[in-house]
Amino acid sequence: MSHIAENIKAVEAKIAAAARRSGRKKEGILLLAVSKTQSVDVIRQAVECGLTSLGENKVQEIMDKYEPMGEGIHWHLIGHLQTNKVKYIIDKVDMIHAVESLKLAEEIERRAAAKGLVMDILVEVNMADEDSKYGITPKNAEEFIRELAKKEHLRVRGLMTVAPFVENPEDNREYFRQMKQLQVDINAKKIDNIVMDVLSMGMTGDYEVAIEEGATIVRVGTGIFGERDYSK
Ligand SMILES: *Cc1c(COP(=O)(O)O)cnc(C)c1O
Repeated sequence: MSHIAENIKAVEAKIAAAARRSGRKKEGILLLAVSKTQSVDVIRQAVECGLTSLGENKVQEIMDKYEPMGEGIHWHLIGHLQTNKVKYIIDKVDMIHAVESLKLAEEIERRAAAKGLVMDILVEVNMADEDSKYGITPKNAEEFIRELAKKEHLRVRGLMTVAPFVENPEDNREYFRQMKQLQVDINAKKIDNIVMDVLSMGMTGDYEVAIEEGATIVRVGTGIFGERDYSK
């Protein structure tokens, strides 16, 4: 078995165990393979193991890999998206994870309308209030989502967060718990068009804790492909 296949088996076992611990079904959790910086050949190994949902944080990388990877891939844009780049990926990705400004939402709405599609989006929330991170504050989430709800070509599927980089994943448990609570609170407002069932949280260092707190998408790169090489 290849290195990547072994890694995937191990991650999937940990996902199943975390689901079991928290009384959830593993089928309710999507393992999104974060393929940024990885070559098409390497990514194919993950796809062959059944991981057909791929996360990229740069528009350019999706553009480069889209044709070579071919049909049957579900691309997710997980990184910060500049308004002027929406047009390149609007008909290529299944989901945009990091919507955090009205200006960006309006551009996605406009481009999706032009293509006659409805784009699934997540609202990025900066749970730990880190200066270095994108995302709206939890306090502003409801108001922001009320604005997004008016847009016909956006479907707000849920929330996404990039938790702080920590040595001990337990340090992020509280942020994951708060994000789950935010989802519950906003769903309880019964905003027209808003039923949020997705929580994109947890990366290689903390996805098990994130699952215990309700993650439905975990974004795992290093845990599948090994350390990234940014020199290429
Ligand atoms: C790179 C990246 C990940 C994956 O990080 P790993 O620690 O390698 O699992 C997850 N989410 C986002 C937004 C990323 O940019």
